[in-house]
Amino acid sequence: MPKSPSPLALTGGSPVRTRPFPTVNGPAGRTLGDAEVEAVTRVVRSGRLNSTVGTETAEFEREFADYYDVPYAVASSSGTSALHLAVAAVDPDPGDEIITTCLSDAGTVLPILAQNAVPVFADVDPSTGNLDPAAVRALITERTKAIIVVHLFGIPAPVAELRELADAHGLVLIEDCAQAYLTRCAPDGALAGTVGHLGCFSLQQSKHITAGDGGLTISSDAGLARRARLFADKAWPRDTDERTHLFLGLNYRMTELQAAVARAQLGRLAGVVEDRRKTADNLTAALAPLPGLTAAPPDGTSYWQFPVFVDAATAGADGHGYAEALRAEGIPANGGYIQRPLYLTPLFTERRTYGASGYPLTTATAPRYEEGLCPKAEELIVGGGLLVIAWNERYTAEDVADIAAALTKVHAALAGR
Ligand SMILES: *Cc1c(COP(=O)(O)O)cnc(C)c1O
Repeated sequence: MPKSPSPLALTGGSPVRTRPFPTVNGPAGRTLGDAEVEAVTRVVRSGRLNSTVGTETAEFEREFADYYDVPYAVASSSGTSALHLAVAAVDPDPGDEIITTCLSDAGTVLPILAQNAVPVFADVDPSTGNLDPAAVRALITERTKAIIVVHLFGIPAPVAELRELADAHGLVLIEDCAQAYLTRCAPDGALAGTVGHLGCFSLQQSKHITAGDGGLTISSDAGLARRARLFADKAWPRDTDERTHLFLGLNYRMTELQAAVARAQLGRLAGVVEDRRKTADNLTAALAPLPGLTAAPPDGTSYWQFPVFVDAATAGADGHGYAEALRAEGIPANGGYIQRPLYLTPLFTERRTYGASGYPLTTATAPRYEEGLCPKAEELIVGGGLLVIAWNERYTAEDVADIAAALTKVHAALAGR
């Protein structure tokens, strides 16, 4: 006789887990230590807290560029600003279009609007959540200037195909690597961020490594890198000793405090990613016998979070249902990652940009931002095709065993009914 599944915590059963997990929002789940404390102290004692007078930011930029084996890295104040530097380096004309994804943090698209360009949303591959190159190709027009691709959750996006597409059409490919430190891309294992013309990283609290906030823009193109650097510093060409402003730039400089902490964090990055991959492999194996639940493809993935792709018909519930049941079991999980595709936020639906103008979303060719624009992304987000389990390099074998046990328990109850 098949064993009847144990009652879900959601319906009064006892939860699999009662102890909290380490999270990125506290010391138990952040890999911070004496090196970071020493870094902050060093900067404060130096009396030089700003990058234009200190050395930490310049050193960090050189170290990060060397780490990624690219000639240029420009530090900035956040991942969003790192992307803004990239878009500003492209220098679109007002109303030009940039193709990107709606399944991401808003930081991916805000810089497009800030430069008065129009975001055009291409649909995603439902097995990864990443941009589908065929969908991108279909949206290229004479107004297209760039593509911003996201490596969602650290799953490698098809950047080799997108780079080829970009080159064929004279476009700039920007990689949003905020969730994808040390992600390795097909076909040759290139690091995410080095395949496109520009790669952007974040040091915000939730990312693999952190300085509280912070960003990096990397490139192998001297012209793009110089524009990015100038944009972050009021377009003030300090290298020529002239106090002038070459174009419209902002102050997006990283502070010496951030940079000093980030340098210490960079030393820990390989270990952080390795530890996340090791434990993720165990959960991937535990998911294999559960029909309707599919782990992310492990090749090259760096596990910012642990995404599970849910076929509700087979799994007995969608990602939202699984997340609710898992949370009751004491497992940190959410359905859909974000609540709605970016194009269904008021920023787009009500064109809340500049005063009452709605600009630049009022151009004759601007897309209609409405339900149904990217059906596959909507299925993952709203339809519950996506279940996201919080991930952390400090998870122990026991932590992962608890997550696997909860998933197996919830699956038995939901898929078996
Ligand atoms: C976090 C994130 C950003 C924005 O980074 P911030 O440092 O928070 O500004 C952009 N894109 C993606 C995919 C992110 O996860």
